[in-house]
Amino acid sequence: MNGQTTMRAIFDRQHAASRREPAPDLAARRAALRRLEKRLVANADAIAGAIAQDFGHRSHDETRLLELLPAIRALRHARRHVAGWMRPRRRAVDIVFQPARAEVRHQPLGVVGIISPWNYPLLLSVAPLTDALAAGNRVMLKPSELTPAFSALLFRLIDETFSPDEVAVMTGGVEVAEAFSALPFDHLLFTGSTGVGRAVMRAAAENLTPVTLELGGKSPALVAPDYPLDKAAGSIALGKMLNAGQTCIAPDYALVPKHQVQAFAEAMIQAMRRRYPTLADNPDYSALLSARQRQRLAAALEEALNAGCTILTHGETVDAASAKMAPSVVIEPPAGSLLMREEIFGPVLPVIGYADLDEALHHIRAHPRPLALYLFTHDRQVQETVLSSAISGGVTVNGTLLHVAQDNLPFGGIGPSGMGAYHGEAGFRRFSHARAVMTIGPVNMFERLGPPWGLLSRWLAR
Ligand code: NAD
Repeated sequence: MNGQTTMRAIFDRQHAASRREPAPDLAARRAALRRLEKRLVANADAIAGAIAQDFGHRSHDETRLLELLPAIRALRHARRHVAGWMRPRRRAVDIVFQPARAEVRHQPLGVVGIISPWNYPLLLSVAPLTDALAAGNRVMLKPSELTPAFSALLFRLIDETFSPDEVAVMTGGVEVAEAFSALPFDHLLFTGSTGVGRAVMRAAAENLTPVTLELGGKSPALVAPDYPLDKAAGSIALGKMLNAGQTCIAPDYALVPKHQVQAFAEAMIQAMRRRYPTLADNPDYSALLSARQRQRLAAALEEALNAGCTILTHGETVDAASAKMAPSVVIEPPAGSLLMREEIFGPVLPVIGYADLDEALHHIRAHPRPLALYLFTHDRQVQETVLSSAISGGVTVNGTLLHVAQDNLPFGGIGPSGMGAYHGEAGFRRFSHARAVMTIGPVNMFERLGPPWGLLSRWLAR
């Protein structure tokens, strides 16, 4: 059998199992979540080691903090709450249909496909897997070919934890990913770039497979005049430099009052140095995944330099042959430049000045709706104005990234940054079918009253 026949065979097995036993009970779901949690905890070092190998350099602490911890928290959160999520929800019954009982029951969809990217390879595989298992589904996972050591480890860990009827990992390159997205899943969740998301949605449409797309984009950080520059710079520097900026919800660029642009850029560099005093020998500062990423960012910086922009740097230069890249701040890159057109996905922060709040809001609204928005202000009125007039997937006010870490908040994009949200209860619902169940009582008034229906319809329309 070749790889694609195997993949189809596993899908067929999972599909048959999901139709034979469509609804695992609470105990089975909690046991699956517990098994996975134990496996991750027991293999934490191996996971951090594999990811470090794929990245060239990624600190084990960063992997523990940004991937293992949230994955384990998500598993525990689901285990704690799944009983409540599964409980049928009663609805009021219209007088015409009484006596009867109306309720919504959440049922498993069947077989869920998950395609994950390279930047947080563990978390972005395990978080959707957690929600899909809590909702009682079977799952096939396709991790990125750009993290081969991690993907091979994930294959082994899942194989040791679940039967292939329950959860299976498919490794391989783009051809495997294409064949994977063409399988007639009951739901397909894709995390990755907007361009590939389009291809995935097209493939899924052939099977009428519903999709959740977790995509990218340019997430702005808006600093209002009342907020201390140093504090904003500290938060934005952290959000930008974790995983060397290779984070889907990293602040992509900053919008600051025009007269504060230079001071803010300098505060950013200070904050970057404070958080990461050294780079090359700093175990906490991650590498860029590939030379391609590095070249892409170097070209964007060169374009900004040629356009006459001021670029402030960390100070320590990193050997061009190294996998790491020194962070920098670019003042006012032109609107059509690479830095302002494409998602940056690295340690480079453009700073754009605005004259007043309306201009800043206009800038955000004139661009595609982002995955995240960061707002720095203590002014409640400004908070409400921005929250109600600039749309994004999620928001953290007076900080960065943290809305993603809160298990009971839905996480997802809007428009080109994605569709559908997951995490916690939102994830349970995403991977469930909300089924209407109406149980008619002993006296069925509706049937008794007609036909003819004249009396009933006149009474209803009164
Ligand atoms: P990518 O789109 O290149 O790849 C993601 C996955 O898609 C990989 O597993 C790959 O094998 C697969 N793939 C590639 N071509 C495919 C095809 N034709 N059909 C089906 N699958 C295919 O993304 P990436 O470079 O791995 O990740 C970076 C992007 O992901 C950034 O844009 C980032 O913002 C985004 N991202 C979004 C989130 C989120 O939660 N919204 C999280 C992390 C990353």
